[in-house]
Amino acid sequence: MVTAGKRNEPALRTLLEDALGGHRLSDEEALRLFLTEDRSVWQIAAAADEKREKVNGPVVTYVRNQNINVTNYCINSCGFCGFSKKEGEEGGYLSSHDEIRKKAALARKRGVTEICTVSGLHPDFNAGSYIDIITTLREGAPGVHIHASNPMEVAYAARKSGIATIEVLERMKAAGLGSLCGTAAEILVDEVRRIICPGKISTDEWVRIIREAHGIGIPTTATIMFGHCETVKDRVSHLSVLRAIQDETGGFTEFVPLSFVHMNTPLYRRGLARPGATGREDLLMTAVSRLYLDNVDHIQVSWVKTGLKMAQVGLMAGADDLGGTMFEESISKCAGALNTDYLDPGEMERIASDIGRTLRERDTLYHLI
Ligand code: SF4
Repeated sequence: MVTAGKRNEPALRTLLEDALGGHRLSDEEALRLFLTEDRSVWQIAAAADEKREKVNGPVVTYVRNQNINVTNYCINSCGFCGFSKKEGEEGGYLSSHDEIRKKAALARKRGVTEICTVSGLHPDFNAGSYIDIITTLREGAPGVHIHASNPMEVAYAARKSGIATIEVLERMKAAGLGSLCGTAAEILVDEVRRIICPGKISTDEWVRIIREAHGIGIPTTATIMFGHCETVKDRVSHLSVLRAIQDETGGFTEFVPLSFVHMNTPLYRRGLARPGATGREDLLMTAVSRLYLDNVDHIQVSWVKTGLKMAQVGLMAGADDLGGTMFEESISKCAGALNTDYLDPGEMERIASDIGRTLRERDTLYHLI
């Protein structure tokens, strides 16, 4: 038995050894690991790093990608979002198809293998708008993987066009969608969603759309946004939902913990959220997810959210992937994150070799390049 928050080293050592030997962590065990507050945190990180080594070997991967956010106009007002604007508000934008095509062409010229696009829920958008964006990106950057939209956008497109979400996904796939973003997950606990993003789809709907995507061969990422007003138990519930989906579909390419960037968000300004996760929490989120999500091969650190130094520490606590080079990132920047524009592979190489690992470029689906 590991006692929450207090040192009980023999029991912890046994649990971690069992996990490394193939024991599947229960929710209760994950909760206890998350609640660790003392130097035992390093034991958990070391076990997660050992697991990472078994699964991924001595490499750190990254993808050359570019974000293209088409619009920041959004009908929703999520409390953690510093990105969205209402029509008429200063700083709002909607890119034309020509602009999108040009940006995509520039991305291709830069040698990116992936273009990501997630935008606000524009009041005039419908399913056709999302399909057109994918088509335009493909025109500008033929052959480049399109990683676009998330379950919230799929649900919105379906509602606006009066069709089923599976039809939206099928049309997106036919237009050239390579994979769907697993964002809009935030915390998959409805009581928390009602506080942080009351206009967003419910947990059940997010799960249903992800299952539909996986069912027709569209892979997705899996994410969590933590460090705002959720409890540690909520984090475990979230991981439990993801693990169950992965058991069933195998459609998640990776898990990406997204540490809450609080500075410019209404949620924080209204006193409804903490000022983000602590370093201990960031570390444990990476380590515990590596140990708990035994069916997800890749755990990513988000340098955009935590900064590069903490990202490097995450690579020693269970993570194997540094994410993307990210030309143009505006969502985290608008929430107050610094240094979000571009991370040179040369700098990635420096932090990977500093911990004795080899940096390798990958594509979206983790094929090494
Ligand atoms: S998080 Fe997305 S859906 Fe929510 S307000 Fe921001 S842009 Fe809109």
